[in-house]
Amino acid sequence: MSITSGVLVVGAGPVGLVAASQLARLGVPVRIIDTLGAPTDESRAVVIHARSLEMLAALGVCPRLEARGRRVDGFEIADGTTGATRATVDLTGIPSRHPFMLDIAQPDTERVLAERAAELGVVVERGVELTALTQDGDGVEVTLRTSAGDERARVGWVVGADGAHSTTRHLVGTRLEGDFHGQHFAMADVEVETSLDPGTGRMFTHPDGLAMLFPLRGTRARVIFLVDDPGDAPAPTPERIEALTHERTGGRVRVTGSHWLTYFEIHHAQVPQYRHGRVLLAGDAAHIHSPAGAQGMNTGIQDAANLAWKLALVARHGADPALLDSYQEERHPVGAEVVRVTTRLTDIGTASGPLGVLRNAAMAVAGHLPGFGEAAAERLAELTIGHPGSSLAVQHGGHRRGAARAGEHAPDPAGLRRADGTPVAVEELLQRPGFVLLVHGDDGDLGELGDVLGDLGTVVRLDADEHGMALVRPDGYLGLVADTADPDLVRRYLTEVLRLPATVAAT
Ligand SMILES: Cc1cc2nc3c(=O)[nH]c(=O)nc-3n(C[C@H](O)[C@H](O)[C@H](O)COP(=O)(O)OP(=O)(O)OC[C@H]3O[C@@H](n4cnc5c(N)ncnc54)[C@H](O)[C@@H]3O)c2cc1C
Repeated sequence: MSITSGVLVVGAGPVGLVAASQLARLGVPVRIIDTLGAPTDESRAVVIHARSLEMLAALGVCPRLEARGRRVDGFEIADGTTGATRATVDLTGIPSRHPFMLDIAQPDTERVLAERAAELGVVVERGVELTALTQDGDGVEVTLRTSAGDERARVGWVVGADGAHSTTRHLVGTRLEGDFHGQHFAMADVEVETSLDPGTGRMFTHPDGLAMLFPLRGTRARVIFLVDDPGDAPAPTPERIEALTHERTGGRVRVTGSHWLTYFEIHHAQVPQYRHGRVLLAGDAAHIHSPAGAQGMNTGIQDAANLAWKLALVARHGADPALLDSYQEERHPVGAEVVRVTTRLTDIGTASGPLGVLRNAAMAVAGHLPGFGEAAAERLAELTIGHPGSSLAVQHGGHRRGAARAGEHAPDPAGLRRADGTPVAVEELLQRPGFVLLVHGDDGDLGELGDVLGDLGTVVRLDADEHGMALVRPDGYLGLVADTADPDLVRRYLTEVLRLPATVAAT
């Protein structure tokens, strides 16, 4: 099947599934393929952070994810030898509807996302591999290897979400650039006995290498250890995992059974460009790094949320493809920061000798600094991500004290309540596909504003004393913030900033 105006998503991992579902919701014809004949049962990424949950809420999948996972309220960095707490991060006070980490095995996350994609009419085509692509000004010619032979198809756009060994990345002639000193991890999903609170994730510093413990459902947990190069061995033995767990947690955690065991080598690298004409790279295809902080899958999910609505404006509504450069502009720096911070976190967790002493002292001091815990919690939850300097962030007129600015993530709107008096969250509003234009008080003409926005989104009136409006993007960030609800400002934002044709914004 060719979808000449549509999108081919390569890879049905978490990133590809989010991209495909969001595109489908926004009315874009989409195919998603995966080389694997069946979904993987490798547990891999086990944490979904608050900012990703806010985006996944728009897809309506959070209750299903929560039913399969465990809410974890905080994170602790402890000395693996003595058990002394070096720093704690309490997530319960973070400014999000999801003040926790959701620990859930990746196959469960993928199952829920694939189920949602299917509800939206997008079924993963399995056993189908992208092997070649060429692009011209109007589309992309792809070759797909299937059990029935090669298929040639023409699509409008390709999203390369095909993971760390991305074929798409190779086919557009780019590569990951970074530090390939190759840290090795032993990891396993195990059953544990411990008196440690299962509501807290942990990183243990240790002279032999850091250890991490992520509690899953019941007595199951993910353990990860930085280890020396294991050579050709594909996986650690259960005995090795038991011993590592005992040593690096100071005997505080005992392994009673093992499920998935693997060695895993990680590099710290990123592609220089996420956009290659009509081909966009997302997730591990674009950036790889240490699992410290559990940011990998989350960064990819947020890449997909950022890209999908822009691609929908281009593929379905005729926006100038130059809009897609803002995907690079907004997401590349986020990926670069994740690579930098996870590298540093891994090095800190592994430091020994005088450096280890220095690290412990620094953590002790930092842990007592006012605001340190809150700042670390918001950072871990990825709530500090924003795009205030983006070319898509437009602030018009005066800025009201305390109000969110263009480019920041949209806070829940004050003055919007259900019949029973409970407040409505911005992520609920975003369950309607497209933009949400929040109009304050009695400012503006809702009919005219609705006409300008057309089928790009919904206009919502807030019961507020202030004037002005805020245009919430489908990924939850604020595009336009204005001190007056002037329809012309919206029209100009759509045509001049989002580069939509005047006809779309004029109807
Ligand atoms: C062993 C291991 C352990 C990990 N542990 C953690 C962890 O503890 N915490 C963490 O945050 N992250 C971890 N990660 C990383 C995390 O799994 C990734 O960040 C996440 O899976 C990225 O999702 P993705 O969709 O970009 O890529 P992937 O999940 O890799 O999905 C890519 C998909 O593309 C398919 N594909 C590849 N090539 C083609 C092609 N040519 N045509 C069609 N389909 C193709 C693949 O079959 C695959 O299904 C781990 C990764 C590995 C490998």
